[in-house]
Amino acid sequence: EAAKARFLERNPISGKLFEEASQYLPGGNTRTLLYTAPYPICMKKGEAYKVYDEDGHEYTDFVGELTAGLYGHSHPVIQKCLIDTITNVGLNLGSTIAQEAAHAKLMCSRFHLDKVRFCNSGTEANMHALAGARYFTGKRKVVVFSGGYHGAVFGFWDGVQENGVDKHEWVIGRYNDVEGAKKLIEQDDIAAVLVEGMQGAGGCIPGTREFLHQVQESAKKVGACFILDEVMTSRLSPSGLQAILGLSPDLTTFGKWLGGGLAFGAFGGREDIMAVYDPRSPSSLAHSGTFNNNTLAMHAGFTGLSEIWKPEVAIEFNELGDSFRADLQAVARGTKMSVTGRGTLVGIHFSQEGTTEIPCREAIVEDWDLKDLFFMEMMEDGFWLTRRGSIALILGTPKSELDRFVKSVGQFLERHQNLV
Ligand code: PLP
Repeated sequence: EAAKARFLERNPISGKLFEEASQYLPGGNTRTLLYTAPYPICMKKGEAYKVYDEDGHEYTDFVGELTAGLYGHSHPVIQKCLIDTITNVGLNLGSTIAQEAAHAKLMCSRFHLDKVRFCNSGTEANMHALAGARYFTGKRKVVVFSGGYHGAVFGFWDGVQENGVDKHEWVIGRYNDVEGAKKLIEQDDIAAVLVEGMQGAGGCIPGTREFLHQVQESAKKVGACFILDEVMTSRLSPSGLQAILGLSPDLTTFGKWLGGGLAFGAFGGREDIMAVYDPRSPSSLAHSGTFNNNTLAMHAGFTGLSEIWKPEVAIEFNELGDSFRADLQAVARGTKMSVTGRGTLVGIHFSQEGTTEIPCREAIVEDWDLKDLFFMEMMEDGFWLTRRGSIALILGTPKSELDRFVKSVGQFLERHQNLV
């Protein structure tokens, strides 16, 4: 209650803007995740790894636009690319452009894909990958895992689909359950298995090597497409999480940072499966989208991947993330707080059981009151986080800011010893 009172006092302009927004947007909102009670903070500006809100506070940005903001808010290379593109190329040209082949070639070589297609979001990438898999296999069912999130209408919280508008026939298994996955996948009529190598929105819960290889093997055995959702995890190494784990998915889906910070999605993989989208074939599947090859995302995505996100940068940055997570784990030891994740992606949990090993979402009962308190007090210390406690580091965030956060978390845990 005291933290809430301080929140209201600190953020009157955000409150007023929320009231205005609520007149035209349901709940003042157009991205469900961004609603937080009593009202969300309204940001005004971002610069490098910082964001500034309407009430004049400055924050170190740990949301990192849920992984899409890898390059930060004003990376000079991306800025220059966008300005050059607007000036010399223009906005959408209503035609194919050479840059889409250039970005496709680079993505194919970095992520070991035969062919790739672009779209505008990770949600779309998964939608089209699933449609392709069903068309290619002639089968109907899709295996997914509880706690998985594959886009706007593809959230599988607690074993049920969050938003039932989609017509796929889902078979929902438990994440990291090796035997369970084998049983579910090795049945008739499974067109595809769609899985994250680490559940991102589900709480940064890494999949085990054993589980993911079982998924791959079982899918192969029954001729189902193994689709790895790397929308978030593609940044965990120069060639995605699949390279770390030694996986060879049939299809991989992408999004987020690979558009350089602009709206982006892509799906790609095996030549024979991707051929279902070849428009030269009379029986091909249609895949259209006005902005699929938009000039800005094609140029910014390519520039980011070729000029900024070089293999050595990817490795070094994720090592920094690993040591940051280890530091957080050290201050959390002996409390209800657990810290999960991989590389530059971190999940913070407050569990009533003080769980330290989290194999799947069902294994934790989050203490949302503590999480809310944490979210509000970290904000007071100048850190911008998601309420659910996920962190996606922004390239160029100084080590001193990571250390300051670890210290601030330690002080939080000490201050609330009776609760944690
Ligand atoms: N897949 C995963 C693993 C994601 O984390 C997300 C978004 O957070 C998506 C798909 C959907 O991407 P988008 O929000 O671009 O539609």
